[in-house]
Amino acid sequence: MRIEKADRLQKLPPYLFVEIDKAKRKAKEQGRDIIDLGVGDPDQPTPSRIIEKLYAAAQDPANHHYALDAGMPILREAIAGWYARRFNVTLDPDTEVLPLLGSKEGLAHLPLGLINPGETVLVPEPGYPPYRSATIFAGGRPYYLPLLEENNFLPQLNKIKSSALTKAKLMFLNYPNNPTAATAEEKFFQQAVKFAQKHKIAIAQDAAYSEIAFDGYRPISILEIAGAKDVAVEFHSLSKTYNMAGWRIGWVCGDREIIAHLGQVKANIDSGIFQAIQIAAVTALDTAAGDLQNLVKLYQRRRDLLCQGLNSLGWKIIPPRATFYIWAKLPQGHRDSIKFAQTLLKQAGIVVTPGVGFGPSGEGYIRMALTVSEGKLEETVARIKKII
Ligand SMILES: *Cc1c(COP(=O)(O)O)cnc(C)c1O
Repeated sequence: MRIEKADRLQKLPPYLFVEIDKAKRKAKEQGRDIIDLGVGDPDQPTPSRIIEKLYAAAQDPANHHYALDAGMPILREAIAGWYARRFNVTLDPDTEVLPLLGSKEGLAHLPLGLINPGETVLVPEPGYPPYRSATIFAGGRPYYLPLLEENNFLPQLNKIKSSALTKAKLMFLNYPNNPTAATAEEKFFQQAVKFAQKHKIAIAQDAAYSEIAFDGYRPISILEIAGAKDVAVEFHSLSKTYNMAGWRIGWVCGDREIIAHLGQVKANIDSGIFQAIQIAAVTALDTAAGDLQNLVKLYQRRRDLLCQGLNSLGWKIIPPRATFYIWAKLPQGHRDSIKFAQTLLKQAGIVVTPGVGFGPSGEGYIRMALTVSEGKLEETVARIKKII
């Protein structure tokens, strides 16, 4: 018997990394020494104080039950406290904060709570793939917002077709940005909030990298903008900030209506987050600022090493102010990002992500993640020097 997949899966765009994944698997099987800059998965361990808290909380039978859908009050209060300290924004922990099983979970479920079939969602490209797939799963139509270098990788909201605007109900934003590493300032967020109010569009701003920023730079929250809390929600993650990617915990905060709609979807899908993880997350938010500082210093050293190394070979990379990605324009004479990534893998054993995989405007770039040691980054530069 042949079981056909649902139309919504057929509608997803083709997966562009099939060949690269195959080549990577083969190279690893052959025992080749691969340097993998392809995945955005932190290489450092979770700070031990957070693990110890998890260990203690896991031993308490009170934490073995189904958790509350809305998250434990102590976690929602810790999130509100962290937000107030970090952004000077006041959140009501009961109605304006919702813990998530990782921010990807909430981003992916949000369109189910907001979008009717045929409605439009404004989706940045290149971009984090779930914005697009979640839109398609909800029956919505993605309208792509190209992020171009000439516009500092910010979408040009005044260029959106009016026919798209009448049906648009939601816009995804993501700053600091994956994959371009671009950042957004107050002025852009002000424009975005005004635009959203005018056209009655909800904003979902993904702030997964808000804490990974360099040279003293501190990204702002969209919720700092006057009026934002009536149109916008912001997604946060503990994955990158505290090296907790495998733990699956994050949150969304902001507009209480949007949060209630997402909460209703989630109440029908999951049954909360393991309480021991929620309790450990409180420890992260309340006590791990020092660990975070050290982590940022580590990424900053890696960023400098890789950018300086590649620039000494004639690449033209501007060191990013945030995220742990280098979004590198291909060196002179190269235009096809998939071909270039294949060359790096075959000839140098280096895995990078071709930009076009994040959307057509990503063509001509590759993304390199700073999630390997300084030694391996030095080796990366040395190997590239030999082949290009
Ligand atoms: C890593 C990442 C997330 C993350 O993740 P969770 O682990 O699900 O909290 C969300 N958005 C972007 C752009 C990311 O790169």
